[in-house]
Amino acid sequence: MGTLVLVATPIGNLGDMSPRAIAALQGAALICCEDTRRTGGLLSHLGIRGVRMAITNEHTEMARVEEVLGLLAGGATVAVVTDAGTPGISDPGERLVAAAIAEGHVVSAVPGPSADVMALVISGLPSARYVMEGFLPRVGPDRTTRLHDAATEPRTVVLYEAPHRLVRTLTDLHGLCGDDRRVVLARELTKVHEEVWRGTLAEALRHVADREPLGEYVIVLAGAPPRTAATDDDIRLGLTRELAAGASKKTAVATVSDHLGVAKNRVYDVALTL
Ligand code: SAM
Repeated sequence: MGTLVLVATPIGNLGDMSPRAIAALQGAALICCEDTRRTGGLLSHLGIRGVRMAITNEHTEMARVEEVLGLLAGGATVAVVTDAGTPGISDPGERLVAAAIAEGHVVSAVPGPSADVMALVISGLPSARYVMEGFLPRVGPDRTTRLHDAATEPRTVVLYEAPHRLVRTLTDLHGLCGDDRRVVLARELTKVHEEVWRGTLAEALRHVADREPLGEYVIVLAGAPPRTAATDDDIRLGLTRELAAGASKKTAVATVSDHLGVAKNRVYDVALTL
């Protein structure tokens, strides 16, 4: 049986390349990577020559499975890297891992940099239990659902975001979480211009309005405060708001039930008293 090894590479600072990661790349029969020029640059910086690379990105990962399984069946070691950080974290890797496991091969990793974990542990927000949301969908109902999930999640939430979508995502989170929810913006981690900004969502919107977001960002959002039991007055207020905004009675009941975490029957009973 062969070995598939996921190798973490630097997220900005080449000094984070570990000796074990270098040895794993040197000893591989094939390195699956997103971009041969980028990984080729890393290999030549490390003085590694003669190891074959194969492009493995979100479009080609499935097609690469057969070749990788063939090499593993011959007892070879195949390494997986991505442009930066840990493979499989908002990056290719998980399909190759699943296929190798299904064929009974050894799957291992050389752990190392990952922007999500670094941002979490320096955020100052609770880190014992957290949720890694990765990138939110850009548009559509999936985005709405995932934003709602993030906003109501009681554990700390870690999100990746492109700089040109940062303001939009912070605005959406602000709309759902309010002014006071704590948030951390971790930018250009491990690089010369590493910056960690900490504050509330209202302050974050002012902060990003003052400067154009540039570089790579991780958003770390504090978990939702524990819900206090909703009173009938809370339900009445919620229903009145929804109905005034044009929702049908059925939709208003469903929305308020969801937002306040109260059974639909109870919301419906209050709706009958309006
Ligand atoms: N697999 C990678 C990892 O383990 O961190 C993540 C890859 S994902 C395609 C790229 C996203 O990670 C960026 O859009 C950004 O949100 C985050 N990221 C990567 N490097 C970063 C850095 N140096 N500083 C802040 N965020 C970074």
